This record gives sequence, structure tokens and C-alpha cells, in this order.
Amino acid sequence: MARIKSKNTGPERRVRSLLHRMGFRFRLHGRGLPGHPDVVLPKYGAVVFVHGCFWHRHEGCKYAYVPKTRKAFWMAKFEQNVTRDARVLSSLKALGWKVLVVWECELRDEARIAKRVLQRLRKRSQ
Ligand SMILES: [Zn+2]
Repeated sequence: MARIKSKNTGPERRVRSLLHRMGFRFRLHGRGLPGHPDVVLPKYGAVVFVHGCFWHRHEGCKYAYVPKTRKAFWMAKFEQNVTRDARVLSSLKALGWKVLVVWECELRDEARIAKRVLQRLRKRSQ
């Protein structure tokens, strides 16, 4: 049986498993939502994206380097991604969603991610 490589990539799986261990219940891939967030936490009105540092240009991150060859090609590609991310973010915010971005490089420190998630989700006035 062929393995299907879809959105179940390592980093996303790890974030989901972390959220699960923290006791959060969620839906996957908000299909009806802009940008199809990786995780949807309906109870908190929050969505989570797990972004690869390279493709989504994590600012100041060593993984967000620019390849030395075909620079113009890469720059155009990156610009497209960043523009799309910004558009998705503002659409979600306009719809009233809280948006959390977890960067791939942050996965080295799950405790820190957990702390940030809690801080963000707690801010809701019940
Ligand atoms: Zn990064």
C-alpha cells in the first residue's frame, strides 16, 4: 500500500500531538476557512498554522535563507507565499478568528510553544 503524503507532515503532526496532550480538542484542516489552517480550535475561536521557516520566510530565522542560485526565481516565489500568508491572516482576523503561527524551528522547544498557545488562547473574554 502506498503511503499517501498529504498534509500529515511531521511538524504538523507534532503540533497536533502537543495540543492533544495539553487537553485541547480540535478539528483538522479548516476546509471552509481561508488558507485551510492546520488545526482549528472552535471552542477558542482559534486556528493554528504550522509554517515551514524556509517557504513562509520566518523573519530572522537561519532556515529562511535564500538559495544562492536562481535568486530571482526564489525571491518571486517567497514574495508570493508571504503575500498569500498576509492575505489569509487578515481574512481570518476579519472573520473573528484568533490566528497562531507555529514555526517549524520552534518545535525544538515544545514547552515554549505550549506556553505561547496558552497565553494566546487565554486572552479570550468569556
Ligand atoms: Zn524559523
